[in-house]
Amino acid sequence: MQSGTKRGYQTQDRTAIALPEAQRALLRHVRPIDKAKVRLEQAFGYRLAAAAYASEPIPHFRRSGMDGYAVRTEDLAELPVTLEVTQRIACGTPPAGALGAGTAARIMTGGMVPDGADAVIMQEMAEETADGQRCYVRFTKAVPSGTNITPVGLEAGRGEKLLDAGERIGPAQAALLAAIGCDEPSVYRKPIVAIICTGDELLAIHQRLQPGKIRNSNLYMLASQIREYGGEPQLIGSIPDEPQEARRMLYGIMEGEADLVLTTGGVSVGDFDVVAAILADWDGDTLFNKITMRPGSPTSAGVRGGKLLIGLSGNPAACLAGCELLVRPVLRQMQGERAITADEHGQQAILAEGYGKVNAYTRYIRGIRYTDGATVYVRQAGADRSSAIVSLKEANCLIVIPPTKTGVLAGELVTIIPL
Ligand code: AMP
Ligand code: MG
Repeated sequence: MQSGTKRGYQTQDRTAIALPEAQRALLRHVRPIDKAKVRLEQAFGYRLAAAAYASEPIPHFRRSGMDGYAVRTEDLAELPVTLEVTQRIACGTPPAGALGAGTAARIMTGGMVPDGADAVIMQEMAEETADGQRCYVRFTKAVPSGTNITPVGLEAGRGEKLLDAGERIGPAQAALLAAIGCDEPSVYRKPIVAIICTGDELLAIHQRLQPGKIRNSNLYMLASQIREYGGEPQLIGSIPDEPQEARRMLYGIMEGEADLVLTTGGVSVGDFDVVAAILADWDGDTLFNKITMRPGSPTSAGVRGGKLLIGLSGNPAACLAGCELLVRPVLRQMQGERAITADEHGQQAILAEGYGKVNAYTRYIRGIRYTDGATVYVRQAGADRSSAIVSLKEANCLIVIPPTKTGVLAGELVTIIPL
């Protein structure tokens, strides 16, 4: 066959549906991923499969917030006053006993405040003196009762819920889990996401450029996005632009261990759009093959054997936005957290520069959100071309431009979806 000859792939009729509808069509097929135990030091990025509760109050003892002296404030009624230092309390060692009247205890930050004491005076406000074996401390200023003492349960009472199921384990969550003694939290296993690329123009990244060919950048972009969403990417590589062979390979991958299968490229109506050709003639159910959004209107999805397949556009910017808008919600829901659909995004910003393009479809353009004083603005990132790759990194959100006959003016309020 001559290059460029139409191969006659049959593509299905395409009826475009709105993005939120497409998202819900996917979410209906999401099954929660199974649960696993993971060691806390390996738990970063996993989502909790069960809520976490405080087994003890936090803190569970009265804790000193300063290096200084624990005192009974009633002993400081008349100033200056000199009290005998009767004990030294290091961190990790409980006091030898309650604090007697007319005495003080040397105490370190994080130390356990003795019974009887009701304040800790910072050492900068005290003057310690020794007289033979005995130690004294002199104060010239009083402090209110409770000063520099963190009471028991200030942060959380016993049994209080600290983390929700579905919450992602980041640094703060890891600290909290450690603090409550949870060394192996129950988490959702990371969903395995197979990434398949299409396009005979693609080169592996180590290959030398050739005329008409490009390196496969979407593979690595998608793998990073999947990790960002808490998934485990499975980098499959490319399938050929030939439907029989491509279908056979795709079926094999869909029957494998992956929880979700993504393709990039080959979904539009070109002569060699292999994913479109497969979805037009396969034994799975096609959920949609067109969305009223740009870029990425040919984005398609289907389900086969209970497993979802999402066919993203090949254009890098369309692929990035498509993954964000369709794959993120699926992965969230797989990991026990309710997905947010595009019609639920509440963030808004003022469009800094007018957007003149007339749109029949909603546009999700890459944007840069920034603030000026208390006002949140957004402007377009880089070139408004879905094939752009160099300017991709500048975007920190997607700007939602609704269908318009006139464009959107500078100063108008638009919805943004943070990336
Ligand atoms: P397609 O969606 O297959 O029509 O591809 C649209 C554009 O995206 C074409 O210019 C492709 O060369 C490009 N493209 C497709 N797949 C990739 C990929 N994996 N990495 C980078 N660019 C790609
Ligand atoms: Mg292609």
